[in-house]
Amino acid sequence: MGVDPDEVDFVFNTHLHVDHSGWNTCLENGKWVPTFPNARYVFPRAECEYYASPASHNDANTPSSGVYEDSIAPVLDAGLVDFIEPTGGRYLDLFDFIPTSGHSIGHMSIAVTSGGETAVFGGDILHSPVQVRYPDLNTVFCEFHDQAQASRYQMLTRLAEIRALYLATHFPASSAGYVARTQDGFSWTYI
Ligand SMILES: [Zn+2]
Repeated sequence: MGVDPDEVDFVFNTHLHVDHSGWNTCLENGKWVPTFPNARYVFPRAECEYYASPASHNDANTPSSGVYEDSIAPVLDAGLVDFIEPTGGRYLDLFDFIPTSGHSIGHMSIAVTSGGETAVFGGDILHSPVQVRYPDLNTVFCEFHDQAQASRYQMLTRLAEIRALYLATHFPASSAGYVARTQDGFSWTYI
């Protein structure tokens, strides 16, 4: 993208699955080191504690075996991490971290409001627009199924109510769009 990694100020992880944290680090002379040495990395605390614990290694649903060791621990060791508590909260007086656990144990969505409009970076609450129409559908990567469904319903309701722009991570096409209420659920429209 033409951005020097040294110039990146902040790295936000909605959760610590491999495809959302893998570029936290890079391999240099056989050692995993932070990719963005001058950034503050922002992690949900519950994610960090869970993947550091034996509980996650015994959980057959965990899709991120080994990721803590190569993509999280080196950043912690470098002292670059700020934590978001499980209740969520504000960061930089601009970003709101919204607890949306279930897909993973401490998953957070991140909202930013500017000029009267709100955008939500939803992480992996939704992997496909199909889940807007059928919110009960979890993916094989959702670790805590009941809670994943509950968080999905809550976020879809919120998105429809406040007409926030939703920025998806795994949708095809633009990955950005709006959720609206329908007679029997929700609909999705790409922008
Ligand atoms: Zn994920």
